Amino acid sequence: MSRQFFVGGNWKMNGSTAANEALIETLNGAEVPEGVDVVVAPPAIYLESVRKALSPRIAVSAQNCYHAQSGAYTGELAPAMLADLGITWTLQGHSERREYFHESSEFVAKKTKFAIEHGVKVIACIGEKLAEREDGTTFDVCAAQLAPIAEALSAEQWADVVIAYEPVWAIGTGKVATPDQAQEVHAYIRAWLAENVSAEVAEATRIIYGGSVNGKNCNELAGQPDIDGFLVGGASLKPEFIDIISARA
Ligand code: PGA
Repeated sequence: MSRQFFVGGNWKMNGSTAANEALIETLNGAEVPEGVDVVVAPPAIYLESVRKALSPRIAVSAQNCYHAQSGAYTGELAPAMLADLGITWTLQGHSERREYFHESSEFVAKKTKFAIEHGVKVIACIGEKLAEREDGTTFDVCAAQLAPIAEALSAEQWADVVIAYEPVWAIGTGKVATPDQAQEVHAYIRAWLAENVSAEVAEATRIIYGGSVNGKNCNELAGQPDIDGFLVGGASLKPEFIDIISARA
């Protein structure tokens, strides 16, 4: 079966009104190949203005949201608020949130389920740190990060999830995983899904790679059988994001 190619741009805590306008002009002028899902994730304060200015061909994602409908949760966003503004995706569990804001895999799973239940699809991020790769525990780390999500979701809810495998040592470092390294973990994740969720979910779920993806390395990565797209940080702020969207075209 063919899984639709998916490219996300994670702007992280970058941007300004002027910078966003320039980037949106580039994105709106680009030809997005048919059969490719493109999603960009600006900082929360710019979600609405980006959604309004960006071509409807490109979806907009939050970088995080909470597991409550409304109430006394200072600083948080409810998925319903995102859906209200036409923001159809959210990231969850990015390694920067796990590291700097101490998000546990259980918390990530709870927010993932709640977002899906309230109309927002999730790019769920997992991946090992350098020491874990060197210790040979990459697969165990990925499985441990996936397990609470698999426990929380029904089989149908997986249709609203994209898994982003992002080795932490490759994020923002310029040190991209080789196509073989990435493929090996993607294949493991798919096998894990088959064993712990179902063969159907394993076959249908997009598993995208993140970590120093750029216009030069994207084609070879995109050629791997279990790499269904990318989550792009630094290069998503540059015109080369357009090349990455077309990596499999
Ligand atoms: P990078 O970031 O492309 O700048 O390495 C990827 C990410 O954190 O999603």
